[in-house]
Amino acid sequence: MNVKCKSIDCWNVFEGSRFSSCPECGSGDVEIILPIYVNVYITNLVRGGSEEGGWYYTCGEPIESISAGSEEEANELMVKYKEKYSNVGRRPLTSVLSSGEYFVTMEGHFAEEFPKQRPFYE
Ligand SMILES: [Zn+2]
Repeated sequence: MNVKCKSIDCWNVFEGSRFSSCPECGSGDVEIILPIYVNVYITNLVRGGSEEGGWYYTCGEPIESISAGSEEEANELMVKYKEKYSNVGRRPLTSVLSSGEYFVTMEGHFAEEFPKQRPFYE
C-alpha cells in the first residue's frame, strides 16, 4: 500500500503498511493513502524446478477485489472477508491433496496475479 509520512518537512510517500516507519526520516507517524483494496487470492504451490530435490513457489490468483473508502472500512472488510474465505478445514499448501489456500490482504491496487514473473533458481 502507499503510505505517507506525516512528519513536517518530509511527506515522503513509500510502499508499506500502517506499522511501517518512514525510510527517509525514520518517523513512525504514517498514514495509508487511498486507494485501499481488500484483495482475496487463492494461493497454490507451483513446482519451480528440480534443483536441490525440487523447489516450489507460491502463486496467487485473484478471487475478489473490494475498494475501501477509508482505512477503517478496509479493516472491517478484512475481518469480513477473512471469515468468508476461511482456511479452516482446508488442507495446507504443503499437502499433496491441497486445493489451495485463501489469502486476504490489503493492497494499494486492484487484485493482480502473482508472481508477475516465474521465479528462477538462484
Ligand atoms: Zn519521513
